[in-house]
Amino acid sequence: MPKFVLDGKEIEFEQGQTIIQAAKKSGITIPHFCWHESLSISGNCRVCLVEIEKMPKLAIACSTLAAEGMVVYSESDKALSARNAVMEFELINHPLDCPICDEAGECKLQDYAYSHGSGESRFNEEKIHKDKRVPLGPLVMFDGDRCISCSRCIRFCDEIAKDPQLTFIKRGDRITIVTYPGKELDNPYSMNVTDICPVGALTSRDFRFKARVWELSSTKSICNGCSRGCNINLEVRNNQVLRLTPRQNEDVNSFWMCDHGRVNTYKFINAEDRVDSPYLRRGGTLTRSGWDEAFAAASSELKSYSKNEIAFIGSSFATCEDNFLLSKFATQIIGTKHMDFMPHFDSGFGDNFLRKGDTAPNSLGAKTVGIFPGKGGLDLEGIIKSVKDGQIKAVFLMEDNLIALRPELKEIFSKLDLFIVHSSNFNETTEIADIVFPASTYAEKHGTIVNFEGRVQRLRPAVATFDVDRALEGMSLSRWDKFGTKFDSWAEGNKRDARSSWRILAGLSGAMGHKYRYGTAEEVFMDIAKSISAFNGLDYEVIGELGAKLKLDSVSKPAIA
Ligand code: SF4
Ligand code: SF4
Repeated sequence: MPKFVLDGKEIEFEQGQTIIQAAKKSGITIPHFCWHESLSISGNCRVCLVEIEKMPKLAIACSTLAAEGMVVYSESDKALSARNAVMEFELINHPLDCPICDEAGECKLQDYAYSHGSGESRFNEEKIHKDKRVPLGPLVMFDGDRCISCSRCIRFCDEIAKDPQLTFIKRGDRITIVTYPGKELDNPYSMNVTDICPVGALTSRDFRFKARVWELSSTKSICNGCSRGCNINLEVRNNQVLRLTPRQNEDVNSFWMCDHGRVNTYKFINAEDRVDSPYLRRGGTLTRSGWDEAFAAASSELKSYSKNEIAFIGSSFATCEDNFLLSKFATQIIGTKHMDFMPHFDSGFGDNFLRKGDTAPNSLGAKTVGIFPGKGGLDLEGIIKSVKDGQIKAVFLMEDNLIALRPELKEIFSKLDLFIVHSSNFNETTEIADIVFPASTYAEKHGTIVNFEGRVQRLRPAVATFDVDRALEGMSLSRWDKFGTKFDSWAEGNKRDARSSWRILAGLSGAMGHKYRYGTAEEVFMDIAKSISAFNGLDYEVIGELGAKLKLDSVSKPAIA
């Protein structure tokens, strides 16, 4: 492989790579604002100027091709002085409003001002003022004062979203960003511009002023908005999910995610309508119960029906671990063959970029771990018909609001003698349930899901679920004070006594006299990996942060994948 020297270090590169690309591949970051590895090169910010031996002038590392034997300095006096000058230029008209800017803490301009700025300004004139708080579209706000005219947002719309909606107008220090006449920034991927804007010029209207970014904890997870399974970070403060941001995975979503995934798939986690304990229907009303009481009630009710009168409905929203245990529970403990899950297909949602028409994250995983009818058993439509005919008298449903999707099922499922539901939130389906178990959301548990291509990926808990009142029994408040935790606001976000569905099923199995010996989701996964050939050889470590491909030739893909 050809090599060049950067700051005294030999760097290998591929023909056609620029200096900045080759440096990045070797783990060296040359400062940059306008360059982004997924966008075309514009070369306008000049902060990546480097000195190259035998070249009379400095060159920009983002557009200069690396060449065999080249000797490059990014930290020489000449390069540093140029970088200082660029920083001084960028800051001339900048409002320096970091204390009230949402980008503070993750702003390239702020970071570089510290690491590459001169620390003072020689500019005494009045700054140019531009428009502030301009809604460019339903989800993105623009602050013209902060824009450094890098054009990343314009290039994103043109090249990635393939929907040109933004452009520059005016020139020199009056230059600014606008949407084209009659247009809004409203493409389905518009919020990615808030991630790639290197300053606080473009901010998320959904997240603005909710938190300072250094107050957020970040947990690697997967979006549950469709079967693409975009890699994301769950960003949490005081046990509340406040935003989702995309996490780079070149095999799934590169740097991006869609706006639906970003704004519509986390609010139910923080919602007021969370199921906060098990509930039993007494005298026609759902009332809170303890876990043991709910397990005992569900167990004795289930035992009063023959196996052919009971059907199970798994979930393309639940994890593989949850669905695996549901399948085992149905076949090994109840002995029924009537089992399926509800497809969630929306042909208007899919596109040619990331979004998939299957708007559930784990259809392939649910099917692969055993959620399908046994030989001679009923599928979903058969179950519905048999409930209507009165042959199926009890249904056990895990983590799916069937009635929201198909309202006609309300009347049919109201006929059931027994309707047991796992749900994270009260909804149209829990309204007619007899027993409701509180299920953890995807942000509150370990587990795996399988995307449309057969890539198994990991969920990790970012939010705690337990009954605060019970957890604090015997714990003095002064202990919280000692850690400086604002107890009241923390506790407000924690009133959720929920469990992963596999754990609920393990508890219910125990009440029915059958012990599953799983202590963690990982142990359930190890059993999956042992017993289902598509998962052979996998464990949580192998899946890691970026996922692993299943050996899918051994299972048939569901029609909706
Ligand atoms: S709004 Fe942000 S991304 Fe767009 S040109 Fe200005 S600084 Fe660059
Ligand atoms: S494309 Fe699908 S998985 Fe990706 S962010 Fe959007 S909804 Fe989520």
